[in-house]
Amino acid sequence: MNTYELIKKKRDGASLTTEEIGYLIEGFTHGRIPDYQMAAFLMSVYFKGMSARECRDLTMKMVLSGASVDLSAIQGFKVDKHSTGGVGDKTTLVLAPLVASCGGIVAKMSGRELGHTGGTVDKLESIPGMRTEFTKDQFIDITNRIHVSVIAQTETLAPADKRIYALRNVTATVDAIPLIASSIMSKKLAAGADGIVLDVKTGAGAFTPLYADAVKLAKTMVDIGESVGKKTTAFITGMAQPLGYAIGNALEIKESIDTLNGTGPADLTDLVLTLGSEMLLLSGLGRSPSEAKAMLRSHIANKKGTQKFKALIEAQGGDSGVVENTDLLPRSRTTIPLESKTSGFVQGIDALETGMAAKILGAGRQTKEDAIDLSIGIVLCKKVGDPVQKGDPLAILHSDGDTAKIEPAVKRLSGAYTIGPEAVSPPKLILARISGDGVEELNE
Ligand code: URA
Repeated sequence: MNTYELIKKKRDGASLTTEEIGYLIEGFTHGRIPDYQMAAFLMSVYFKGMSARECRDLTMKMVLSGASVDLSAIQGFKVDKHSTGGVGDKTTLVLAPLVASCGGIVAKMSGRELGHTGGTVDKLESIPGMRTEFTKDQFIDITNRIHVSVIAQTETLAPADKRIYALRNVTATVDAIPLIASSIMSKKLAAGADGIVLDVKTGAGAFTPLYADAVKLAKTMVDIGESVGKKTTAFITGMAQPLGYAIGNALEIKESIDTLNGTGPADLTDLVLTLGSEMLLLSGLGRSPSEAKAMLRSHIANKKGTQKFKALIEAQGGDSGVVENTDLLPRSRTTIPLESKTSGFVQGIDALETGMAAKILGAGRQTKEDAIDLSIGIVLCKKVGDPVQKGDPLAILHSDGDTAKIEPAVKRLSGAYTIGPEAVSPPKLILARISGDGVEELNE
C-alpha cells in the first residue's frame, strides 16, 4: 500500500477499505506516515466525507491503537454518557451519582478540556482532596464497591485519536463530522461500557451550532456504537443559552449539589431526567421513560442521589463535607455584579460569549499545561424569558480581582445579553432522540 495513493483515492471521493484505513492509522501512530500526509488525508475527509463503514473502521482502528479498559470484572451492565460540550454543562456531576443510586453502574472516564471552563475532572477537583487519577484496578474496585466512579481519561486510551486531534486542531479539520464522530466514539468504546448515552449540543455554544449538523453527528455516532454491538442512544439538546446558572468549576459543583437536592435549575434538572432515564432503560431498569424518570425524581426527593455523590467523593479521597457545606469549596477573591442598562425582557444570551467571558476571567485553560483557578466563573441571575429592570444584576462575576481580566470579561458578558421590550419564551432544551430506529423529534 502507498500513502500517496490512499490520499488521492479519498481526494477523488472513493471509499477506503478496512485494510487501507488500518494502514493509515497504524502507519501514523508508529511514525511511518508523516504529519503532512496525514493532514492531507484529513483534509480530503473534510471535503469528501466517509461512509458509515469507513467511520466504523476508523473508530475501531483508533481504539486498537491503545489499551482498552476491560470492565468485565464489574458485574452488571455498565452505562456511560458523553456530552459534546457546552457552557455550564455540569450534567455528568448530577447524572453519575443519581443513576448509580437507582441501580445503574456508571464507570466514567472524562477529559480535561481546553474549553471555556475546565472539564468534568477539573470541576471534581475543586472539591478539597478529590482525586481523579487512578489505576485501572482502583477504578474497577471503586465502581464495584459503590457502582460509580468518575476518573481522568488515561493517556493510553485511543492514542491515535490524541495525535490526530492535535493535527486537526492546526489544520482546520476539527469540524468534520466523520472525524468528530470517530474521535469521540473511539474513546467511548475504548473505555469499555456496554451502553452509551450521547448528549449532542446544538446552538451558539455548541460544536455543531446547526441542528441539521447535530443530527448528522448524532446519527453517525449511534451507527458506530450499534455496529460494534453497544447499545447507543443520542439526544440533541439546546445550547442557545448556558445550561443552568453557574459557569466555572467550583460554582458548577455547588449547582450540581443543589440539583441533586432538588433545588437546582429547571433546565439542568430536565436534562438530567431525560439522559438519566435513558441510561436506566439501557441498563434494563424501568419499563418506560416515565417510570425511569419517576425513579430518578424519587431519588432526588429522598436524597439517595446526594448520598451517592457523598460516597463517590469519599471513595475518591475528597471531603464529602462540601455536600452539606458548599462554603468548603474554593471561593473567589472578589465578586462583581453586571447590571442591566435597560428594562425589558431577556431575549437571548449567547452561550459562546458567556463562555468566552468566563475564560477571560480565568475559569478555563488556553493551553493544556495551564493551571486554572477553580474558584473563578460567572453565575447568571437572569435567563432567557426573564423580565429585568434597569439596574438589576444580570450576572455576578467571580474573579481573582485582576482588573486586566475583569474589564474585557464584563464587556464580553454584557454583549452576550440581548434585552428588548417583548416577552419571549425560553428556548426548547430537548430537541430530538436518535437511536438505531431513527430520529424522534421531541421539542420539549
Ligand atoms: N471531542 C472529541 O473528543 N473529538 C472531537 O473531534 C471533537 C470533540
